[in-house]
Amino acid sequence: MKYGVDEQGYYGDFGGAYIPEMLYPNIEELRQQYLAITTDASFINEFNQLMRDYVGRPSPLYFAKRTSELYGANIYFKREDLNHTGSHKINNAIGQILLAQRLGKTRIIAETGAGQHGVATATVCALKNIECVVYMGEVDIERQAPNVARMKMLGATVIPATSGSKTLKDATNEAMRDWINNPEDTHYIIGSVVGPFPYPEMVARFQSIISEETRKQLLEQTGSELPDYAVACVGGGSNAMGMFYHFLDDESVKLVAVEAAGKGIDSGLSAATSVLGKEGVLHGSRTILMQTDDGQVVEPYSISAGLDYPGIGPQHAHLHKIKRAEYVSITDDEAMEAGLECSRLEGIIPAIETAHALAQLKKMKFKGDETVVVCLSGRGDKDLTTYINHFGF
Ligand SMILES: *Cc1c(COP(=O)(O)O)cnc(C)c1O
Repeated sequence: MKYGVDEQGYYGDFGGAYIPEMLYPNIEELRQQYLAITTDASFINEFNQLMRDYVGRPSPLYFAKRTSELYGANIYFKREDLNHTGSHKINNAIGQILLAQRLGKTRIIAETGAGQHGVATATVCALKNIECVVYMGEVDIERQAPNVARMKMLGATVIPATSGSKTLKDATNEAMRDWINNPEDTHYIIGSVVGPFPYPEMVARFQSIISEETRKQLLEQTGSELPDYAVACVGGGSNAMGMFYHFLDDESVKLVAVEAAGKGIDSGLSAATSVLGKEGVLHGSRTILMQTDDGQVVEPYSISAGLDYPGIGPQHAHLHKIKRAEYVSITDDEAMEAGLECSRLEGIIPAIETAHALAQLKKMKFKGDETVVVCLSGRGDKDLTTYINHFGF
C-alpha cells in the first residue's frame, strides 16, 4: 500500500520504535510475531466470530436523512456506537487479547482517557479470564465516573495517574513504566494508533474492519463503494485510521480528520495537534506533538476525554504532511452544539468525541449529490453529565 508502513516501521518520516532499552524485548517479540499470529487461520476465525456474535458486527451504515437534508449532501453514519461497550475501541481490544493469549501472556495492562478503551479492555479480559490493570488520569476518573464503575464491575483494577495534567498522556506514561517492570507475563493493550511500531500498524489493521464494511455497505446502498468524503474525529487517531484504511489508495475519496480545538486554537487550552504540534518523539514513535521550544510536552485540553491527547499517531502525521488527509479542528462549544443537533435530528446521542466529527459538517461546502460517511465512533451515555452541565438541562 502506497501509504502503508515500511520494513523499519515508518510512515514516511514518522513512526519507528523509540523505546528505552528495557522495553526492547517486549517490542521485539511483538514485532516478530504479530503478523504471523494475526494472519493465521485460527486467529482470523476467532476474531471474525467474536466480531459477529460478541461485538455485533457488521455495524450498520445508516443514511442520516434529516442531517442530509440540513446540509445538502447524502450523509451516512457508520454506527460504531452500536458496538458492544459503546465504541470502536472493542475492535482493537478483541484483536489484541487474542494476540496476547497466543503470546502466552497472563496479565494485561492498558491506559485509558475517556474510559472507553479501559472498558473495552476490561471486557475482553473478563471474556478470556485474564488479569486486567487499567491506568487512568485522576481528572479523567472524575469526569468519566460511569466508565470507572464499569471497569471495576468487570473485575479490573483501576490505578489513578497523578502526575502532570492527570489525563491520558500521564496514564500512558504509567502503563509504559508498568510494562518495563513486568516484561515476561504482561501484554500492554495500547488503545489507539500510537506508540512504538508495531502498535500503530497493528491497531490500524484491527480497526480497518470499519472501512472494509463501509465499502460493502456503500456499494449496496449507493451503487458505489467509494464516498466523496470520509470524516472522523482524531484523538490518537484509531477510529479515523479504521475509517480511512481501505480508502487510502482511492485518491478521489477526501479524508477529513477532526481534532479538538478545545476553547480555541490560540487559547492555550487545546488539543489541535496538527495545527499546534511540531515533529518530535512521543510515547515511542516519531510523530507530530504539542511541545514547547525546548521539547516539553504541552498539556492538552479538550472537553472530551478521548481527544485530550498531545499527539497523533505516526500514520496521521504522515497523511497530514503529504496532505493525503485534511486535518481540521472543532471547539468544545461547536462539538456540544453538534451533539445536541444529532440527538434532536436523528435520535442518536453521540459521544462528545464523535460530536467533533459531526460539527465539521457545518463547515463543509457541498454541491448536493456528494456521499459523506461520518464515523460515529461512540455513544454519548458516558457523557450525559457533561452534556447536562453544558446545556443546563
Ligand atoms: C477513544 C475515543 C476516541 C478517540 O480515539 P481515537 O483513537 O482517535 O479513535 C473517539 N471517539 C470515541 C467514542 C472514543 O471512545
